[in-house]
Amino acid sequence: MEVIEKPEQGEQVITPGDLLANGGGQDQAGDIGAHAPIEHIDPSTMPGAITTKHALASLSVSFFDEMKCRSWLLQNLHPIGAYCPKCNVEIKDRSTLFNFWCGKRCRCKACGKWFSAFSKTVFQECQLDERSIFILAILTELNLHKDEIARVLAINPATVRIWQGKFKAIELTQEIM
Ligand SMILES: [Zn+2]
Repeated sequence: MEVIEKPEQGEQVITPGDLLANGGGQDQAGDIGAHAPIEHIDPSTMPGAITTKHALASLSVSFFDEMKCRSWLLQNLHPIGAYCPKCNVEIKDRSTLFNFWCGKRCRCKACGKWFSAFSKTVFQECQLDERSIFILAILTELNLHKDEIARVLAINPATVRIWQGKFKAIELTQEIM
């Protein structure tokens, strides 16, 4: 009779995904590498293989943190703070500020205008999310081919080209200033 090993009652099968969901178990695995003696290991004896090609082929927006990308983008778009794009009044109340820095719609208390942190910027009515914009910028800077960038972001190469054009235009403005 074939015996299939099943987890005991109450025993859980743990996957890497579970560990991530539980905070990565950092307290245990934290800095093993820092104190372990250096051991030279033959890669052919490893149970699996990770190559740089494989890493690039696996790259997707899901590797990046949405909030971090948004906050980087918005802080760089608005280095001096949050202002109404119509009447230029500084946004001071907490709930409007919160919506502003979340990239959501907000309403100016002074003039009644609805806007977001992307209004009157090249990212206005942008179809790409903040992670995709951030990654597109980095991969463009690293000179990755636009077809490969399109694959990573799961978008059309023509969209990549349009955004590369926008970034180029921003760069030229910076050089003039
Ligand atoms: Zn206003």
